[in-house]
Amino acid sequence: MDSIVSLKGKSALIFGVANERSIAWGIAQELHRAGCTVGFSYAGEALGKRVAPLAQSIGSEFVEQCDVADDAQIERVFSLWKEKYGSLDVLIHAVAFADRNDLKDKFVTTSRAGFHLAMDISVYSLVAMACCAAPLMEGREGAILTLTYYGAEKVVKRYNIMGVAKAALEASVRYLASDLGPKGIRVNAISAGPIKTLAASGIGDFRAMLKHHEKTAPLQRNTTQEDVGKSALYLCSPLAGAVTGEVLHVDCGYSIMSTPAIDEPGEPTAQG
Ligand code: NAD
Repeated sequence: MDSIVSLKGKSALIFGVANERSIAWGIAQELHRAGCTVGFSYAGEALGKRVAPLAQSIGSEFVEQCDVADDAQIERVFSLWKEKYGSLDVLIHAVAFADRNDLKDKFVTTSRAGFHLAMDISVYSLVAMACCAAPLMEGREGAILTLTYYGAEKVVKRYNIMGVAKAALEASVRYLASDLGPKGIRVNAISAGPIKTLAASGIGDFRAMLKHHEKTAPLQRNTTQEDVGKSALYLCSPLAGAVTGEVLHVDCGYSIMSTPAIDEPGEPTAQG
C-alpha cells in the first residue's frame, strides 16, 4: 500500500537496527515506503551481517558501523554521509544499552560504572548525533526522533537505570528542540509500548510485562513495530511541522491508566 505521506527527495540516517525485529527497522520500512532515501549505522561486525541484507532489501546504499560511545566514530559516519548525500532530513536515534545486571534487581544497587554506561550510550549519544546532524539539516526542516519508554515517567520494576536514562533522554529532547528550533529542526521522542526485541530481552520478566500491557491498555493489545513506524513517519514528515520537544505515547493507551488491570466487575445495575 502507498504511504499516506510523501518523503520523496528526503533522506534519513537510522541508528539502531540490530535485526528485523528492531523498532528502527519498522521505522526504516515506513520511511522507505514514503519514498525517503534511507541509510543505516549499526554496532559491531556481528550485527553488520544482519543489517546489510535488510538494508539491501530496501535499496539502501549506506551501511556504516559505529559504536556510539566513541565521538570519532559518530563523526566519521556523519562525514561519510555528507560526502555521499550532502545533506540530511531525518535522523533516527533508536539506541540504548545497560548492563544486564542492572536490570535484574533493585535500582538502589546500580553501580557507578553501570550508571555511566547507560547514560552514555542511551542519552549522550543523542546529543552527539544531533550536534553532527544539525549542520546537514540547516534550511531543510530537519527532524530528529528518539525512542523512549514509560519507565521514564513512573517506576517500572526492573527497568531501573534505563528508566532514569530515559527520563534524561526525554529532557534532552526538550533542550535539543529549544536549541535547534531556530534552525527549523524539530526534535521529538516516541514512548513505545513494550515490543519483543533484542534490547527488550535484557529486561527481567519481559513476557509478564507484555501480558500486563495487553490486559491494561485501553486498546487491549500490545504495540507493534508497525505502529511505531507509522507514528515515526508522522513525526518526521511535514504533517508534524509544528510539533517539537514532544514525547508521543505509542502504547495503545497504556500510559493513561492509573491502576493495574483487575478483573472487571459485572455491568452496574440500576441499584449501583
Ligand atoms: P534493538 O535491540 O533492536 O535495538 C537497540 C539498538 O541499540 C541495537 O541496534 C544495538 O546495536 C544498539 N546499540 C546498543 N549499544 C550501542 C552502541 N554502543 N553503539 C551503537 N549502537 C548500539 O531493540 P529496540 O527495542 O528496537 O530498541 C530501540 C530503542 O527503542 C531503544 O532506545 C529502546 O530503549 C527503545 N524502546 C524499546 C521498547 C521495547 O519494548 N522494545 C519500548 C520503548 C522504547
